[in-house]
Amino acid sequence: MLYYSLNRSSEKLDFKQATLKGQAPDKGLYFPERIPRWENEFVNNLKYLDKYEIGYQVMKPYVGECIPEDILMQIIKETLSFELPLHQINENIFCLELFHGPTLAFKDLGARFLSRCMGYFSKEQKRKTIVLVATSGDTGGAVADGFHHVEGIEVIILYPSGKVSPVQEKQLTALGGNIHAIEIKGDFDACQRLVKMVFADEGMQKNVSLTSANSINIARWLSQQLFYVLAYSQWHDKDTPTFSVPSGNFGNICSGMVAERSGLPVNQFIAACNQNDVFTRFLKTDRYEPLPSIQTISNAMDVGDPSNFSRIIELYGQDINLIKSKVCSFSASDNETKRTIEDVYKTYDYILDPHSAVAYSCMKTWQKDNPNKKGIILGTAHPLKFPSVVKELIKNEIEVPEKLKILMQKEKKAILLNDSYADIKNTINNIIDYNPA
Ligand SMILES: *Cc1c(COP(=O)(O)O)cnc(C)c1O
Repeated sequence: MLYYSLNRSSEKLDFKQATLKGQAPDKGLYFPERIPRWENEFVNNLKYLDKYEIGYQVMKPYVGECIPEDILMQIIKETLSFELPLHQINENIFCLELFHGPTLAFKDLGARFLSRCMGYFSKEQKRKTIVLVATSGDTGGAVADGFHHVEGIEVIILYPSGKVSPVQEKQLTALGGNIHAIEIKGDFDACQRLVKMVFADEGMQKNVSLTSANSINIARWLSQQLFYVLAYSQWHDKDTPTFSVPSGNFGNICSGMVAERSGLPVNQFIAACNQNDVFTRFLKTDRYEPLPSIQTISNAMDVGDPSNFSRIIELYGQDINLIKSKVCSFSASDNETKRTIEDVYKTYDYILDPHSAVAYSCMKTWQKDNPNKKGIILGTAHPLKFPSVVKELIKNEIEVPEKLKILMQKEKKAILLNDSYADIKNTINNIIDYNPA
């Protein structure tokens, strides 16, 4: 399988090269040359297969010959090492709980698959790989945990001092080992600027392979289609499910669309948005008009210009009507989101986080016109990741998972630096020198 750039200037690459590159040199996103079509037998038998077999069968065509079969199976086992249960909230709405992974958010799955693929490629190259990321909170935690203990890789994470939540900070700083946290006296934009300067500095690329682990990476993007396949493997209703997906950069929902193209039965996708509703407006007006992002209580979805929009357009061959036949979109305000968290807790004794609540609210809107149709919302984060908002609404405590208690007792280790390129460069070079290949 080869991957081409959606800007169509860069050369096609295999899975290994496209994963290591992240983004194409022409700044386009990579896209698979063809979408595999699954045998009907595979789809009909999903209920009887275990999750590792499903994960292996789905990812194998994308990985091609780049990873030997036994190692790919091992990678799949480590990627799916936590539960992804389908929880029934009420008669017509189910929640696929994607928050039982190490950092309590769905990004764990993609980060784990990516990190283990990179770990294998790095060993093969016999060259140190440095993964450098700037984070405003959630992505960094999933990446840090995903890469923890992966041999041959050092991870350096820049985060803005005082601007991430206490849980997020521990997730970045308490792991140790090959995970190095740098706390910048500045905001997220400063962190991102510093990371870009390191990537632009040719001297830094000489002795190590320097890479990012951002969400447009094909290994992260494509492995997320497993959510939809694993949801279907737990689906026992004759009604074909509709998926409501809390969307920000649209990587998650777009991976589900890929699974549908391969043959997964899906009635409809609902792109659930908060007030950042560029996609909702696009389906209404046929015009794509990005806006600066607005801050909301579902902040991982505060994206004004979703990076995976170009992949959705490509998947449907630029045909807007075809997109509309498969995807609809609604937007929920913060007030609607809060009311949803309250109602669902009161009525069904189930606690939604703000992102999952947006998906629930949009599912309800869709069901008004589609009564008796059944749907799955993707529960993308544990409510404890947003304790202040959720506790105030449910007027109750949230049970703390054991792994979080353990994490919060660990010691924070971070290097505090000014917003200065010279300091960053020095620190990174020290990390490289003390951790030779
Ligand atoms: C990242 C994130 C999203 C948005 O996912 P995309 O793939 O960017 O659309 C939704 N919910 C949570 C909790 C997230 O962390």
